[in-house]
Amino acid sequence: MAHVVQKYGGSSVASADHIKRVARRVAARHTAGDQVVVVVSAMGDTTDELYALAEQMTSNPHPRELDVLLSTGETITSTLLSMALHELGVDAVSLSGAQAGIRTTAVFGRARISGIHTDRMEAELAQGRVVIVAGFQGVSEDLDVTTFGRGGSDTTAVALAAALKADTCEIYTDVAGIYTADPRICPNARPLRDIGYEEMLELATTGARVMHARAVEVGELYDVAIRVASSFDESAPGTLIHRETTMEQGNKVRGIAHQDHTAKVTVRGVPDRPGIAALLFEPLADAGVSVDTIVQNASVEKLTDMTFTVSPGDLTEALRVVEAVKAELGAAQVVSEPDLGTVSVVGTGMASAPGFAARMFKTLHEASINIDMISTSDIRITCVIASAQVGDAVRALHDAFELDRQD
Ligand code: ADP
Ligand code: ASP
Ligand code: MG
Repeated sequence: MAHVVQKYGGSSVASADHIKRVARRVAARHTAGDQVVVVVSAMGDTTDELYALAEQMTSNPHPRELDVLLSTGETITSTLLSMALHELGVDAVSLSGAQAGIRTTAVFGRARISGIHTDRMEAELAQGRVVIVAGFQGVSEDLDVTTFGRGGSDTTAVALAAALKADTCEIYTDVAGIYTADPRICPNARPLRDIGYEEMLELATTGARVMHARAVEVGELYDVAIRVASSFDESAPGTLIHRETTMEQGNKVRGIAHQDHTAKVTVRGVPDRPGIAALLFEPLADAGVSVDTIVQNASVEKLTDMTFTVSPGDLTEALRVVEAVKAELGAAQVVSEPDLGTVSVVGTGMASAPGFAARMFKTLHEASINIDMISTSDIRITCVIASAQVGDAVRALHDAFELDRQD
């Protein structure tokens, strides 16, 4: 008997019929003798719709209330799936994150899992039931409902697989695994057979929303192998995210990630003296603005420019904070640019081999795409470019690095 955690994403449970299909798949696994825990997302665009409802009440919903509201999306799916399983003659029970024993920090909207009390889930499994857990939520010490941030149901699934010491963790979505690039914008993209945690984490943090980055972190920490596959096409094997054992990945780029939207803030004419960066970035952090790429120009006559990117949703807040410290910084001017995006190439093989950056820049140049900013890690190069050119950049780089070829 295998212990299995499965997760079905929003598009896989988008309608009553979709949920009935999922129920049939889960029932087949249960009947085959496996112990099954199912994590579900909210149906289709429910989470977006709940946000929109909150915005009709106020432009600034209280984070505690917003989390209770958003958590109901996954609760709905969990109860419906349980009913559909009952209808198939399978004993099942739905649990909210709190009922499943998922304890979190009290940071609404981006809570982190602090521990999982598995007793209730184990008792239900011992009774021969399928356990269905509402994804992307938990409960704080004070018993307030919290959520994990967009895409967070993946993290519920991987964390449950770790806590329950499951044999397999299966993430079912609307594409056949992790592709070399987003298949929606790059028709030549192909699914990877497998990928290491490190590469997957870089792809997830730079825009490949197919996996929640924190799910990959938890997977790496607890050595949970994660299979990502299609909930629609059962014949495709999907992709295994695991501790990679293949020696030497052939010095290759493994994947390309993109973000359609990012915004840039430039603080001009800042006196180049110690403490300036802290003076700028501490208040941004205090205001909960997460900063991506940061570039400080070489100073000319002891004056420098500081540029950083933020998600477009954080731009107004970032500008408010920067304007507030502008005088203290002694800065001349603050300018911003909203219509930018990013494209990133990722591969562990890049760490030891030269030439990848040059190839990336040349490819973008040949496609007449101007590079606004560049940032790198050992295994990633990211370029900030115009938002409108992101699709072209992904396709050109996919060709240049020959990612359509089997590895
Ligand atoms: P779910 O609702 O199942 O969690 P998501 O919408 O969060 O699904 O993630 C799946 C989507 O991620 C795909 O439809 C695809 O457009 C997008 N995506 C982005 N990058 C990739 C990639 N490298 N491989 C596969 N899908 C990707
Ligand atoms: N429903 C949540 C979202 O849309 C969480 C998830 O689907 O993973 O972001
Ligand atoms: Mg998702």
